[in-house]
Amino acid sequence: MNWFNNLVAQILPFVPKPFVKIFSQQYIAGENLDDAVAKVKELMSQNICATLDLLGEEVKIKEDALHAVEMYKQILKTIHEQKLDSNISVKPTQMGLKIDKEFCYNNIKSLVEEAKKYNNFVRIDIEDSSCVDDTHEICMRVAKEYDNVGTAIQAYMRRLIGDLNKLIPMKINLRICKGAYYWEPRSVVYKDGSIINDSYDYAMEKLLSNGCYVAVATHDEKLVFKALSIVDKYSLEPDQYEFQMLYGVDRELRKIIVESGHRLRVYVPFGKEWFAYSIRRLKENPKMVSYIIKNTFLKITGRA
Ligand SMILES: Cc1cc2nc3c(=O)[nH]c(=O)nc-3n(C[C@H](O)[C@H](O)[C@H](O)COP(=O)(O)OP(=O)(O)OC[C@H]3O[C@@H](n4cnc5c(N)ncnc54)[C@H](O)[C@@H]3O)c2cc1C
Repeated sequence: MNWFNNLVAQILPFVPKPFVKIFSQQYIAGENLDDAVAKVKELMSQNICATLDLLGEEVKIKEDALHAVEMYKQILKTIHEQKLDSNISVKPTQMGLKIDKEFCYNNIKSLVEEAKKYNNFVRIDIEDSSCVDDTHEICMRVAKEYDNVGTAIQAYMRRLIGDLNKLIPMKINLRICKGAYYWEPRSVVYKDGSIINDSYDYAMEKLLSNGCYVAVATHDEKLVFKALSIVDKYSLEPDQYEFQMLYGVDRELRKIIVESGHRLRVYVPFGKEWFAYSIRRLKENPKMVSYIIKNTFLKITGRA
């Protein structure tokens, strides 16, 4: 079904926005911080912790990036005041990476500094391949001064092994995910799902056997099983790793992981800039995508 996924991925951005919004709501906690706080509290009642993401990416002017920094500082303050079990996830291009790398570094550093005051943690999300070098460099620079920062790696990247060898000596706290930027060319990313899973397995084992803290971010049960087998093989303690899942995806698996005694963190995005994030999520849900396209077609042809 890969060709079908690719086809729908190309069509989705042209589906009317209001229509996409209806279906993307399951993946977004709401437009405001209050909405997100309510969702985090609900997760906490299920023994699940969170990472809050203020939606927004590819920021083109400095004022917008600085506004996002201020918003994140407000989020950190709220997490502290309301005693939420949550950290934050930030996107480098929202912090101004595409405007100026040094500006982005300073923005991320100021958030890490602020988070440190509250004994909190900042995860730097990983975006498309044009951002990977700068993101890892910024994370390693900040990590020289602060221990409350980490980033992510993508198993679909052909360059992954080299990145691991760079990040492991600094014991960077890493989230592993498959990779969400579906338009990357074959020269840059593996396209075959079984190779991506092998690469994911390799990265997990290499990181966990080298004493790095790992966030296993997936809804793929094969990878969950592999993570559990590595935890057993190296007799790891529950505070050496965590599982992560996206808000709105596979609540049953979420419950199974938590009830087996493992730490689980849910990525909770909120805000008004929901479109780009939602397209990536909908694309990963082929059933929903074909449903949306069918209904859009019926609507356009007046048959709905
Ligand atoms: C906490 C977290 C943080 C992430 N951070 C990043 C990041 O920084 N950078 C980045 O590039 N990517 C990130 N991702 C996205 C990731 O790269 C994948 O695109 C996404 O998680 C799907 O991969 P999967 O491991 O779930 O496997 P898949 O093989 O895609 O899915 C496994 C199963 O879960 C189901 N599933 C997966 N996604 C959905 C969905 N949206 N709706 C319904 N069912 C679904 C599938 O249908 C399948 O049954 C993150 C993912 C998570 C969980």
